[in-house]
Amino acid sequence: VIMMRLDKFLVEMGAGSRSEVKKQISKGLVLVNGIVVRKPEMKIQEQEDVVMFSGKEYRYEAFVYYMLHKPAGVISATEDRKDKTVLDLIPDKKRPDIFPVGRLDKDTEGLLLLTNDGQLAHRLLSPKKHVDKTYEARISGIVTEEDIREFRTGLDIGDEKPTLPANLEILYTDPTKTESYVSIVIREGRFHQIKRMFEAVGKEVLYLKRIRMGSLVLDTKLLKGESRELTPEEVKMLI
Ligand code: URA
Repeated sequence: VIMMRLDKFLVEMGAGSRSEVKKQISKGLVLVNGIVVRKPEMKIQEQEDVVMFSGKEYRYEAFVYYMLHKPAGVISATEDRKDKTVLDLIPDKKRPDIFPVGRLDKDTEGLLLLTNDGQLAHRLLSPKKHVDKTYEARISGIVTEEDIREFRTGLDIGDEKPTLPANLEILYTDPTKTESYVSIVIREGRFHQIKRMFEAVGKEVLYLKRIRMGSLVLDTKLLKGESRELTPEEVKMLI
């Protein structure tokens, strides 16, 4: 059995800061298996004991998973000196140790997974695993069949190797504005990859949104800036 201090347990489950949690415990507001415990240092069995605090039951979860509809203007990092980060957009985090799985550019929107499951993150990001990512984009210029072929073949974007085959699909072209709406599936996650791929065919990405990563699809009910925990089914499919 794994034992953990009661105050540490509550902090990790997102009940508050260490000092807040200690205060609540000393006041007699925390129950362990139905019994008031006033000692923050008491060791509990993290997998078995049920901790009640403020009308809520806390059970141990080693890993937590959130999907965020990332808006433009926030940074895919855990902290930043001047900008808001994606972590600032997850209210009532159950765990303080979550991080974004990969990055979206500051101006890119859409699906971002946040977790404290390092192994899963590693597998989703490993260049060897080639997890599919689907994006939708608005492009300046008219995307052509030739572009589709070049994306499928692989493009020299100035890296050591050309890009792996990517599926480019034209959703809509607006000849009056000379703009195209497209979807793109890539199997890598190089820095500014999609922007650099369009640059390589002489076009510019005006707007970019990720809608899928592997089996995980952005919930269309989430507005920009909103997040939710993954369902157990979504977690199972990812793992
Ligand atoms: N490709 C990009 O250029 N930017 C992103 O944020 C994601 C993929």
